[in-house]
Amino acid sequence: MPKSRALQAAPGSPPEPGLLTFTARRREKPPRHLADLTPGERRDAVVALGEQAFRARQLSVHYFDRLFDAHADVGVGGGETPAHDLLTDLPARARGPLVAALLPRLLEPVRRLECDGGTTVKTVWRLFDGALVESVLMRYPDRTTMCVSSQAGCGMNCPFCATGQAGLTRNLSTGEIVEQVVAAARALARGEVPGGPGRVTNVVFMGMGEPLANYRAVIGAVRTLTAPPPEGFGMSARGITVSTVGLVPAIDNLAGEGLPVTLALSLHAPDDELRDELVPVNTRWKVGEALDAAHRYYQTTGRRVSIEYALIRDVNDHYWRADLLGRLLSARGRGWVHVNPIPLNPTPGSRWTASDPAVQDDFVARLRRHGVPTTVRDTRGREIDGACGQLAAVSTP
Ligand code: SAH
Repeated sequence: MPKSRALQAAPGSPPEPGLLTFTARRREKPPRHLADLTPGERRDAVVALGEQAFRARQLSVHYFDRLFDAHADVGVGGGETPAHDLLTDLPARARGPLVAALLPRLLEPVRRLECDGGTTVKTVWRLFDGALVESVLMRYPDRTTMCVSSQAGCGMNCPFCATGQAGLTRNLSTGEIVEQVVAAARALARGEVPGGPGRVTNVVFMGMGEPLANYRAVIGAVRTLTAPPPEGFGMSARGITVSTVGLVPAIDNLAGEGLPVTLALSLHAPDDELRDELVPVNTRWKVGEALDAAHRYYQTTGRRVSIEYALIRDVNDHYWRADLLGRLLSARGRGWVHVNPIPLNPTPGSRWTASDPAVQDDFVARLRRHGVPTTVRDTRGREIDGACGQLAAVSTP
């Protein structure tokens, strides 16, 4: 991965326009967690504590299958009972040490906001070092999608995105990503989200951060989420979407992982002149290179690629840009791609707004005329600053 082009912006001040930050400053690592480890590493960790190797599998059953929360307030006997005493299949003396070593607290909820009658829930989490991230749960009649963060902040500096304006704080670990999903699974299993007890069916890496700039932790999270229980969370890779600004070498690496996740490419402009401004990484990898990589991804995995296009009034919503995009996509073949226009969500201090509805309709119709399937994305959570591009992890109201 290339090094950052210039010194990182000071925390708190927005990065200068166009500045890209690929690597965060070195920081203390998050505590090691079961979800970070392969089954073999989990056994080794348990043996290192003087316990028998099969205890690792028991812990995995508790975490991934029974959704055991080691840090819940269980409240038995006046709240004095530690949660690990619920792990009755483990020897009493081993419970505390095993939980401390493999199920440390990674996320602490600091704020919870909901809308859509409680079926959209944004949570602000504090990480072990005080960094803040957000995740958004969206329950629909037929599925429940968890939108997770892969980094605290983001180094890609897209000027219309609130996260981009905050700069990059640090990469999340695999465990910190997985725990966002497991926390949602617990809330759904407990029936805390209207609609009855449920499961997480989809995970989208569309929260804070550029997932392909935190490649190893994100791949680790996808592997853990898709591994069959008890080793992992047992999700289908087809239910997972990785969204990227277009880090071309990383897209090619992802295609080679043998994980049929859906790739989403944040294009936002079909011409390099405008995309250089809207998605600054375009100064590294041009529209044509990003689209070629997306097409290779389709050829290798057979997974149809999504193109994300935030429609910004009078900035990128011109009819000729719809036609240009339609030509660029259809020239690479049929059936390999679909477009998700996203009405721009307002972000603090931004001068941009969403396109006029008639302009949006025309944009969609033109793409369809080029034979490109196009569906406007229903972005939930605007009222709670939880929609696409609004995640800024502000913990105070
Ligand atoms: N870094 C990844 C994931 C980011 S979020 C990426 O860029 O793909 C998911 C989507 O929300 C991206 O397509 C992003 O460009 C889009 N987005 C960002 N800000 C937005 C805004 N204000 N309104 C609508 N979409 C936005």
